Amino acid sequence: MVAGAISGRYTGLLKIRINEQHKHKGMTNFLIFGPPGSGKGTQSVKLASEFNLIHLSTGDMLREEVAAQTELGRKVEVIMKRGELVPDEVVIQMIAERIDSNPRANGFIFDGFPRTVDQARALDKTLAEKNTSICKMLMLEVEHEELVRRLLLRAEVSDRPDDKDVNIIENRIKVYKEKTEPVIAYYRSDGKYLPVNGMGDIEKIFSRLSETLAACI
Ligand code: ADP
Repeated sequence: MVAGAISGRYTGLLKIRINEQHKHKGMTNFLIFGPPGSGKGTQSVKLASEFNLIHLSTGDMLREEVAAQTELGRKVEVIMKRGELVPDEVVIQMIAERIDSNPRANGFIFDGFPRTVDQARALDKTLAEKNTSICKMLMLEVEHEELVRRLLLRAEVSDRPDDKDVNIIENRIKVYKEKTEPVIAYYRSDGKYLPVNGMGDIEKIFSRLSETLAACI
């Protein structure tokens, strides 16, 4: 009984410590991570609304540029169609601008960023300049066949050209493995990595993520 009470109190203190460490100026920042088709976008929108955080998706920002046919949009369009990564400096600047323009945010959910170790370093630097940091990386774990199945299904209802061709889908997964997976080790070494089962229905995955997130807010 006594031991239980002590350990409960200890966990409480530990949580307060984690909060003090990561909540600067009231900000709590999370990465939602995983391969293409793992559900990052769907779950980020729901988490942002549940926890009152700002959802920043570099994929969405880039698609807006393409849709508006800006100079940048025209440049990145061909890269995105092939399922390759756009240059680091493009997305790093986009994210920095969004962070700058939301000084009163409770925090951010980063979706699809960082996708390279250089992007992760740049994000850490930008956040450190604002006296804040990444609290946790939530990693959605989904089997390969399920990723391809979901993306082909999405192709039927979306106009994303990178979802329409199975070869492009496979290339995006390959690029993820080569360039993006190393980002896991970067955050794991800081003890920020939290894997979450991303298989099953949307609401179930959402409750798993919410529980994990709530435990460290
Ligand atoms: P998904 O995770 O389903 O592949 P996203 O919407 O996150 O979809 O990204 C779509 C495309 O946008 C990527 O294939 C890539 O070309 C580009 N992109 C998005 N975010 C980044 C990023 N952080 N770095 C480089 N390219 C990016």
